[in-house]
Amino acid sequence: MDSNHSATRRVASFEIFYTQFLNQDGVACGDLPAFAQDREQLRAMYQLMVRTRAFDKKAVALQRTGQLGTYAACLGQEAIGVSIGHALKADDVFIPAYREYAAQFARGVPMRDILLYWGGDERGMNYESGPSMQDFPLSVPIGTHVPQAIGVGYAFKLRKQPRVVLVSCGDGATSKGDFYEAVSSAKVWNLPIVFLVSNNGWAISLPFSRQTGAPTVAQKAFAGGMPGEQVDGNDVIATRFVLERAIERARSGGGPSLVEAVTYRLHDHTTADDARRYRGAEEVEAAWARDPLKRYKIWMEASGNWSAEDEDKLQLEATATAEAAAQAFLKTESQAPESIFDHLYATLPKNLEWQREEVAARGPVGSHA
Ligand SMILES: [Mg+2]
Repeated sequence: MDSNHSATRRVASFEIFYTQFLNQDGVACGDLPAFAQDREQLRAMYQLMVRTRAFDKKAVALQRTGQLGTYAACLGQEAIGVSIGHALKADDVFIPAYREYAAQFARGVPMRDILLYWGGDERGMNYESGPSMQDFPLSVPIGTHVPQAIGVGYAFKLRKQPRVVLVSCGDGATSKGDFYEAVSSAKVWNLPIVFLVSNNGWAISLPFSRQTGAPTVAQKAFAGGMPGEQVDGNDVIATRFVLERAIERARSGGGPSLVEAVTYRLHDHTTADDARRYRGAEEVEAAWARDPLKRYKIWMEASGNWSAEDEDKLQLEATATAEAAAQAFLKTESQAPESIFDHLYATLPKNLEWQREEVAARGPVGSHA
């Protein structure tokens, strides 16, 4: 449009900011946040990243050997889950998508439960310890869980509780009506919500360039009247810092905001996908250079917070932990097949009762001729 015309004037303008502390070579730039002085915190963050990667590898191996259903790997996106896990307080509520396992582990979800879930067992969504007890189960449907943050945020506001809800989704979800509806309501009611979008470059086989004509996801916040910003989602220090800032703004009455964590999905979309069919090897290779673990480990060693001996110990422990979770999952006795009817309705409708009875009478698949 012709903004030079005398009848046309600017009524609003927006800027997008991007935060990064550790570049891809693990070199620190800028003044690090206060928590970077806390050696134990830094070590705990690294340990969680490594444990999550070991878990992820084990889960994929279980699926590849026919012992787990379809699984969505978080390879390359571990820093985001770790940051959420460290930035949220115990009283806050987390509404996850399906690649933030690290955050769920930090909030008390046992690794076994995530495996149960992807093994098709409802009990894997019944989180029974720590802050995860008030969190939502991970959401596989794209974006349908985003408006639920409005309900949680509104409840906090009504009760005058200083609590925050963080809802995460992917770049693909930001094209959904659910996402826009939530963004549209959040600021109108000034709710304590942080929308975290993990932009991993792909929505299954659709690249970000075809997902939206917008150069960033962050700017979608402006349509709802809230702040939106980008962070290097492979930089765990930056991501935690930006999330903490957004969470505390929400907690102190400053309202909702949106954080776009720029990352890359190093694995296939899920184990039911083969990404080689739609993206080049060079792109993936280049993304490995931005690996969140690699850069953080380099910086941790250079800053004297981590040693080769620590690394050896952690690698062994992380592999053993993932293996123990796999064994606990494999040893869990299957639910009765009719349990599929038990969690959707408070009272089962009449027309489903006979189906439940029939399934119960047949017993588990393979148990009858
Ligand atoms: Mg994506």
